[in-house]
Amino acid sequence: MPSPESAAASPAERQTHGFQAEVRELLQLMIHSLYSHREIFLRELISNASDANDRLRFAAIGEPALLADGSELEIRIETDQAAGTLSITDNGIGMTRDEAVANLGTIARSGTAEFFRSLSGDQQRDSQLIGQFGVGFYSAFIVADRVEVLSRKAGLPAESGVHWESSANGEFTVETVTRPQRGTTVKLHLKPEAKEFADPFRLRALIRRYSDHIAFPVRMRKEGEASLEWEAVNQAKALWTRPRAEITDEEYRQFYQHLAHDFTEPLAWSHNRVEGKREYTSLLYLPGRAPFDLWQRDAAHGVKLYVRRVFIMDDAEQFLPLYLRFVKGVVDSSDLPLNVSRELLQQEPEVEAIRSGLTKRVLDTLARLAKEEPEKYATFWNEFGAVLKEGVPQDAANRPALLQLLRFASTHEPGNEPTVSLAQYVERMKPGQDRIYYLVGDSLAAARASPYIERLTQRGLEVLLLSERIDEWVMGQLMGDVDGFPGKRFKDAARGDLELGTLESEADRKHHDEELKESKGLLKRVKDAVGDRVLEVRVSTRLADSPACLVLGEHDLGAGMRRILAAAGQSVPESKPALELNVGHPLVKHLDGLGDGARFKELALILYDQAQLAEGGQLGNPAEFVQRLNRLLVELAAAPPAS
Ligand code: ADP
Ligand code: MG
Repeated sequence: MPSPESAAASPAERQTHGFQAEVRELLQLMIHSLYSHREIFLRELISNASDANDRLRFAAIGEPALLADGSELEIRIETDQAAGTLSITDNGIGMTRDEAVANLGTIARSGTAEFFRSLSGDQQRDSQLIGQFGVGFYSAFIVADRVEVLSRKAGLPAESGVHWESSANGEFTVETVTRPQRGTTVKLHLKPEAKEFADPFRLRALIRRYSDHIAFPVRMRKEGEASLEWEAVNQAKALWTRPRAEITDEEYRQFYQHLAHDFTEPLAWSHNRVEGKREYTSLLYLPGRAPFDLWQRDAAHGVKLYVRRVFIMDDAEQFLPLYLRFVKGVVDSSDLPLNVSRELLQQEPEVEAIRSGLTKRVLDTLARLAKEEPEKYATFWNEFGAVLKEGVPQDAANRPALLQLLRFASTHEPGNEPTVSLAQYVERMKPGQDRIYYLVGDSLAAARASPYIERLTQRGLEVLLLSERIDEWVMGQLMGDVDGFPGKRFKDAARGDLELGTLESEADRKHHDEELKESKGLLKRVKDAVGDRVLEVRVSTRLADSPACLVLGEHDLGAGMRRILAAAGQSVPESKPALELNVGHPLVKHLDGLGDGARFKELALILYDQAQLAEGGQLGNPAEFVQRLNRLLVELAAAPPAS
């Protein structure tokens, strides 16, 4: 309910609005289930006040008159312990009546629905999600049963103030009021059990904890409620402008939490000042966990951009390549014009230079983490490895650094954790080995058990195992010598010739030649039976325990890529595999002993179908396969038991 005085001032203009449905739901949640971490409301409201000041400073670049009634931007916090109220006041951009209606109740923020989906039921965790989803204002209702907002838009006359009020009962009211000063006051009528937040002593401690890095002074009355003097409680200096040596780790962490609205700890950060021809400061963080929208194409990403301390924009994406979209941070440039827009950023040569500098910083930070804190790096890799991989084909200039950062599961490691680096692989290569063998499977378990690598592992050769969607594409782009590893090349164990080179002994070759000679007839007969399904039938050098496998040509599209393209509705070019037979396998020997009748053809086709299944493929006609197999089994059942 609006207070009687203000209602009397302009009763005709008082309106009641219903909260938008999702907002209503959100409020219920705030009120009933999120108080385990309730002091976050202060962080959110101070953060909004700071945003409002930032936005005014930015708007005043083009329109200095907006600062006419005072250019020192600040935030004031005032309490009345007797009344149990707490007010947060900024002298920033302010809101018009329409903006207050839209921003504080009728328009659901884009993140709201996602917020609900992300809720875990764990209060501690859920309360930390609030800021991340852009629903911070409503956190006021965690501690207040009534909230008033008084605001006046910068540049508008005193009579165009707005008074917004709600008790979170599904409705809010707005009316037009006279407000002498520009900016916004959020006044909380604290719940009986939240009266502690009217205690100046408690507040000071909280402000210092959550808002030290806010670039505006957060002021409170000097000795208490009655004093006329105000004093700053926080440092009021943008953290990144301070010298590194003076900043504690705790301050860096707090700043990250403010910046990313993420209450978990960052894995690492890099704070740098570049001086000389171009000048800029950057503070970049590696988060400890992936955000909910890491894989959403249109999700916001990028750094917060400042020009000479003036906030310009959030999510400036031109400063980092897409494959580093998980990085959070601030860039403060001394060279960019203050009126720079998103469009202009795309053309600024300055931006390109900063981007390449920042990219190197991030890659250096990752390399350092990998070297000095492998456990943290493992966390990083699990959360963001698949994103970083996108850079390998995309960023040729940084490819050597990126390749060093890759981690793989491997036949030489028991677990499925990706821990093996290329450097490690190369170090334990066999003498004479110059191929880095890898295999992409549907899962790591499937890759590990795959027939394609039987002989390689039997020879003690290490095979890197991959199974992420993006892997086939990434690895397929890596032709020629591996950057940073002269003379070494990647070799897909499922394609073409294994290129064993000198790893194959004279005896091996002789044995293979003999097999070839002996099997000539068999190969031809199997090809006749299998027909056009395969390009050719040949003697395998990769199988040990399995009878057959299908092998693609070096440049054919792989099975995984085919499935992705087909799912996306694209036409996929035909590519025929070769059927390789393990001529030492009893089943193949048995086949060789059969005449050219129907039995021969059935068994040959079963081998072909099995080979398809083993590579994770789908049979053209599964029913036919089952029938064939069953006919064989019936015969087997009818045969006299072996003695
Ligand atoms: P977010 O800050 O992520 O946008 P909030 O729920 O905290 O989400 O705030 C919602 C919106 O209300 C803000 O985007 C802003 O438009 C408006 N707002 C909140 N507090 C203020 C303020 N102190 N001054 C001006 N506008 C504000
Ligand atoms: Mg906010």
